[in-house]
Amino acid sequence: MRYVMKFGGASVKDGRSIRHCAKLVKRYSDNEVVVVVSAMAGVTDSLTNIAKKCYTEQSTGFIKMFVAELAKKHYDAVKDAVDEPYRSRVLEHIDRLIDELEKVLLGISYLGELTKRSEDYILSFGERLSAPIFSSALMSLGVDTLALTGGEAGILTNSNFGRARPLSKACELIKNRIEPLIKIRRCIPVVTGFIGVNEDGNITTLGRGGSDLTATLIASAIDADEVWLWKEVDGVMTADPKIVPEAKLIPEISYQEAMELAHFGAKILHPRALEPLIKKKIPVRIKNTFNPDAPGTVITETKAKDGIVKALSLIEKVAVVNVSGAGFDFAEIMAEVFKRFAEENVNVIMISQSSSELNLSMVIDRSDLGRAMKTLTSVDSWNGNVKVSKLDDVAVVSVVGAGMAGTPGVAGKIFSSLGKAGINVIMISQSCSEYNISFTVAKDDGRKAVKILHEEFQLSKMGEVKKVVN
Ligand code: ASP
Ligand code: MG
Repeated sequence: MRYVMKFGGASVKDGRSIRHCAKLVKRYSDNEVVVVVSAMAGVTDSLTNIAKKCYTEQSTGFIKMFVAELAKKHYDAVKDAVDEPYRSRVLEHIDRLIDELEKVLLGISYLGELTKRSEDYILSFGERLSAPIFSSALMSLGVDTLALTGGEAGILTNSNFGRARPLSKACELIKNRIEPLIKIRRCIPVVTGFIGVNEDGNITTLGRGGSDLTATLIASAIDADEVWLWKEVDGVMTADPKIVPEAKLIPEISYQEAMELAHFGAKILHPRALEPLIKKKIPVRIKNTFNPDAPGTVITETKAKDGIVKALSLIEKVAVVNVSGAGFDFAEIMAEVFKRFAEENVNVIMISQSSSELNLSMVIDRSDLGRAMKTLTSVDSWNGNVKVSKLDDVAVVSVVGAGMAGTPGVAGKIFSSLGKAGINVIMISQSCSEYNISFTVAKDDGRKAVKILHEEFQLSKMGEVKKVVN
């Protein structure tokens, strides 16, 4: 079998965890395996913060401190994950990277300027530090392996720094670089997740959580049998168990359903990660590093419609922007809105439009609200005839399930149970795929709505229904 196995930041949060994950990989080393690894937990966030601080603060003293702390975190991990002689070698490599990072940060600080390109370069250090440690941990277990950066693995992207998209020729490049390693040399490549390279040789990143996409891109290029995303949970649940303690594991879910859930905030995988797999029908399995023998959740092209509603998700850090006005052409206003949102990198999560006069409501990330309002209130051609308003404290609940398509009464059931509970719905959206119904409520009602719907659709009995059917 040919597997691509991705380990997220939480799975490689310290040296002992890295060693544990390396042992898991070794268990499967009779197969052809490619490993993709994220930065150690918290590292990408800390790099984002320090990059900003470098160009806003006058002094540079904090850079030394940051770099020393980051070095220590990785030294400690090496101590627990890697044995000699690999330990000294990887420590030297880490020292070189840390040196390089310090110089870049000082450069940013002296220039007082942070470009998207340099930000990506800084963010890349998280994975560039973790992958060699993972690979050295494998060597310590007697496994032949090679650490590669995304660029070395053939992840060629466009130059949209911060959210780069892979180029179509990447597929062939990846295949040419990875296949000889797994097929002829029979080693296990350990590839940095999240980062690629553009045609000028500059490092790019695929967007936060992008290691999943690295894994699926590689899987598609080398025609893997399965992608395994190793996490700290058993798989995809019917709802976030922190909100609904009776939430159940979903054994099988379709690509479409998983994409809807990911888009609407369930932290299963990067929302774009399934795209490279769909054509080739490569399944993704979510596995638990702490319970590796459990089958997890399989994401496939299954058309299985067990249960009408399969899962619920909730996004809390969102806001609504509302654009309204009469006497304008709909398409013109919409074009202006979305052009500006694209330019400002505003992430639009859901839209709804009513038609008597223009009324366009959009749910966006709360962190984008300032930019969104600023850009829309400065459209000169609207001459003050188009009103832009916002709603700050909202949440989006999404009800997902392929079985909803063509089943009458689902929306009725959703909204009448919310009505009975006194929850006011602000905005509704359902696309014609009918795989999901999403709606916006006041932020304080979000969790309550999820609990009520979980109960209403008896999602905690999902496993039992399946047993009866079998
Ligand atoms: N390290 C990156 C992030 O935290 C990529 C990833 O974890 O997938 O977003
Ligand atoms: Mg991460």
